[in-house]
Amino acid sequence: MISSVNAIKKIESVKFETLTEQLNIENALNRTLAHDLITPINMPPFRQSAMDGYAIKLTNSNTYNIIDESKAGDGRNINLNPGEAARIFTGAMVPNNADTVVIQENVTKDSGAITITKRPEQFDNIRPIGEQVKRGEIVLRKGIKLNPAAIGFLAGIGIQNVIVYKSPKVSMVITGNELQKAGQELEEGKIFESNSVMLEAALKKININEISIFKTRDTFNETKETIAKSLDESDVVLISGGISVGDYDFVQEALKVNEVDEIFYKVNQKPGKPLWFGRKGDQFVFGLPGNPASALSCFYIYVTPLLNRLMGSQSFHLPKIKSRTLSGYKNNTGKTLFLKGILKNNEVEILHGQQSSMLHSFASSNVLVRIPSDTKLINAGNEVECILLNT
Ligand code: AMP
Ligand code: MG
Repeated sequence: MISSVNAIKKIESVKFETLTEQLNIENALNRTLAHDLITPINMPPFRQSAMDGYAIKLTNSNTYNIIDESKAGDGRNINLNPGEAARIFTGAMVPNNADTVVIQENVTKDSGAITITKRPEQFDNIRPIGEQVKRGEIVLRKGIKLNPAAIGFLAGIGIQNVIVYKSPKVSMVITGNELQKAGQELEEGKIFESNSVMLEAALKKININEISIFKTRDTFNETKETIAKSLDESDVVLISGGISVGDYDFVQEALKVNEVDEIFYKVNQKPGKPLWFGRKGDQFVFGLPGNPASALSCFYIYVTPLLNRLMGSQSFHLPKIKSRTLSGYKNNTGKTLFLKGILKNNEVEILHGQQSSMLHSFASSNVLVRIPSDTKLINAGNEVECILLNT
């Protein structure tokens, strides 16, 4: 058995080759950039007015004759002589020899001339060429996650395609004779299958959309063949159930015959002790406990960071914060605990119903509270580590 801390270290340190693909920026939201990105143009590309007003070459005089107009989108260069002004609007090209845009609120206008009522400073309200970014400069670094602002910024410098890290194809193998798909009346002795639906949602939440789901009954042969099929189809396999030590748990043996090498099995934690992790070449396999709350807890703590690493992410763990707990908690298990909690106003309520079979408390929680294996007692008001689930 491995400690939770060491199991996480294994996830952080497994080596693999990352794969990249070229995507149109419209499809690149939340993807991680796989190269330093250089801007092909200056931004702004020409001297731009930042306000509506009048472009002038600032002199000691306060009066200027209006000789022309420059509106956004006009590509014509206007030549201004001293004492002359051009009407100008936000985003428009500033005339060649103008050095100042005086805002319209600070002038009075009559019969083709303006009089400045509040003097500007030279260079006011002019955005110089390349003020934001200069052609040839690295503007976004490899490893950045493309958010809506980044997508907009790329569009603004005329970039249409980017190279990003590929998202892995993930397949699930759902084991269990007792499982029944929702939709028909529940047969005696059966339960509705929930892990595939839950894990699919969790995968989609982190932008993994190529997902296949396989189901197998609890026999060695079917488990072995289903795992083989899932390995043919995907980069990462998540197996649900069948990884414990019961007579009908065939996953471990089936992984062995499929030549998937174990990296760790059994983690000193609650929930999720029978977690299995291994690899076959550059494919990774998790054997997740079948109990739904264990499966999801393991997904957040171990599967998410691995998938995020595969997708090139540099901050691959779920974010965490410290917060005071509203109630105490005893840990006489000697294991690391991951407790469902509700964080509100920087205080966390540890919920009832922490058993690994129970998704009810998980459904309303927004954090997992991590209690280290060597912490025997948490008192109300103590600071605890909260892993944020809704980011
Ligand atoms: P196992 O890990 O296969 O021993 O399963 C542990 C518990 O989780 C058992 O009570 C199973 O019935 C339940 N379980 C396993 N797989 C699923 C699933 N896909 N959906 C809901 N419950 C499950
Ligand atoms: Mg089972």
